[in-house]
Amino acid sequence: MRAYNFSAGPATLPESVLRQAQDDMLEWHGAGASIVELSHRGPEFMAVAAEAEADLRQLLSIPYDYAVLFLGGGATTQQALIALNFAAPGQVVDYVLTGHWGKTAIKQVKPYVTTNVAASSEDDGFRAIPTRGSWKMTPDAAYVHITANETIHGVEFADIPDTGSVPLIADFSSSIASEPVDISRFGVIYAGAQKNLGPVGITVVIIRRDLLERAGQPRAEILDYRAHAKGESMLNTPPTWNWYMLGLTVKWMLAEGGVTEFAHRNARKSRLLYTRIDESGGFYRNEVDPSARSRMNVPFFLHDTALDKPFLQEAAAAGLISLKGHRALGGMRASIYNAMPEAGVEALAAFMHDFQQRHG
Ligand code: PMP
Repeated sequence: MRAYNFSAGPATLPESVLRQAQDDMLEWHGAGASIVELSHRGPEFMAVAAEAEADLRQLLSIPYDYAVLFLGGGATTQQALIALNFAAPGQVVDYVLTGHWGKTAIKQVKPYVTTNVAASSEDDGFRAIPTRGSWKMTPDAAYVHITANETIHGVEFADIPDTGSVPLIADFSSSIASEPVDISRFGVIYAGAQKNLGPVGITVVIIRRDLLERAGQPRAEILDYRAHAKGESMLNTPPTWNWYMLGLTVKWMLAEGGVTEFAHRNARKSRLLYTRIDESGGFYRNEVDPSARSRMNVPFFLHDTALDKPFLQEAAAAGLISLKGHRALGGMRASIYNAMPEAGVEALAAFMHDFQQRHG
């Protein structure tokens, strides 16, 4: 029996996608072999890859002047590559820190550039987005980097900051495709697939093409976005199975109604959980400023840590798994990406109410 899986990533996938992958596993459309056994340059996989890109462009309304790359290495590798590709040696880059992953991003670029933390909510425990007026921007920075949704701290930007002529680069790993986004406001968007786009092992990078002309820093061809764009993400062997699975997941999202439909579902799902937490009289608590609460990751604490273990055990027994919070924060975290059905969140909210009745 499949449980409702609230894992932060790798995360739950639509059951229909898993079933389709199961059906396709042994033999691909008369090719005599699995899609995972065929050359990435063969006609079968080339068609799968092209269709996944076309569907993703449709799902996210990606403008024509943006390249879409499908790369290995995870989001963390992209965090390093953005400095190598878009900033000159020693040039200043601005980072707005709103959680753990913004700190990771800055760590990855330190060897290559001069980092300026334009704003940070770390002193307040990453519970809010620093007010726009407090950001100390560098006028000629190579780029400004934000984390659209902080997966561990549960902090999400409610709107896109205006960075003027300085390109905005955003880590959308845990919120891509969760609502309509105006891609043209960004220079670069990157996202590991393992939350909203499919299985871990492939990362989507969406780059405004003029940025590919930047000199950046001395780097090997395999670290060069321009070369990847020219080589259609096949400079080396791409993660073909993951690319195929991403394509299935994107098709599923389109069939369900696209990002507008998911925005409605995600608003309802997150509202239900935050309401349950806020109306528990302190039995549960979420400490994030309501204006910055994530629609994707809902971290919460029980009023008594002695209840953490029974909560997790009883939840698992009720078919609700992977609710343990990240070790950096403790407590609980419910990740409710696009593939988490509303029924799963309703079951969690009902369980939380019931648990409180029995232990409150
Ligand atoms: N950024 C964000 C927002 C994330 O949630 C994660 C992974 N949880 C990462 C970056 C790192 O991704 P990866 O493990 O794919 O390198």
